[in-house]
Amino acid sequence: MSKHVTEPALAVDVRELLQQPGAHKHVVLRAALPDLATPVASVPPERPVEVDAELESVVEGLLVTGKLRATVTVRCVRCLRDVEHELEVDVRELFALHAREEEDEGYTVLADDRLPLDTMVRDALVLAFPSFPLCRPDCAGLCPQCGADRNTTDCGHDGSGATDPRWVALAGLRQAFEPEGFGEPERGAPINKEEHVARPEA
Ligand SMILES: [Zn+2]
Ligand SMILES: [Zn+2]
Repeated sequence: MSKHVTEPALAVDVRELLQQPGAHKHVVLRAALPDLATPVASVPPERPVEVDAELESVVEGLLVTGKLRATVTVRCVRCLRDVEHELEVDVRELFALHAREEEDEGYTVLADDRLPLDTMVRDALVLAFPSFPLCRPDCAGLCPQCGADRNTTDCGHDGSGATDPRWVALAGLRQAFEPEGFGEPERGAPINKEEHVARPEA
């Protein structure tokens, strides 16, 4: 069984459109799609996504212009909490009447005159998923010493005695790029407050 046999969840009968070049049709479809996931964002397989699009019959095939909407579950990269994120994506794709190349797969009108929108929806949504999601712009993240969620807990660690090896490695890198004496030493005050806090005493 090849992938071609898979029944599309989002398919529109376009027989009438194909018979009238220049004709338009507005469609709103909702369906759940599998495989909408990246390591930090996903749409659960049972949750429907929405397509709101204008279909236009053109010489080369069918032009699809519209919006996709989905509620995406994203994992905050700082505190690892899952939060819901409303996503709206503009799409504009030409569907050929017949597949010419392998890469047209999924962007071609089916032999029974149905337009399968699954591949376009999946491609556009996954591309628009946030790659660095935050639960809120000022998320305080997890304490590098004890792992406490700093948004809800005051564990008392101020980060000055950071022992996590990842932070030590970062501090080393920062020193390599900002050697002592670089900049304007005559002014006395450190330019970068973070550097002052992150560097352990003694
Ligand atoms: Zn967070
Ligand atoms: Zn802590």
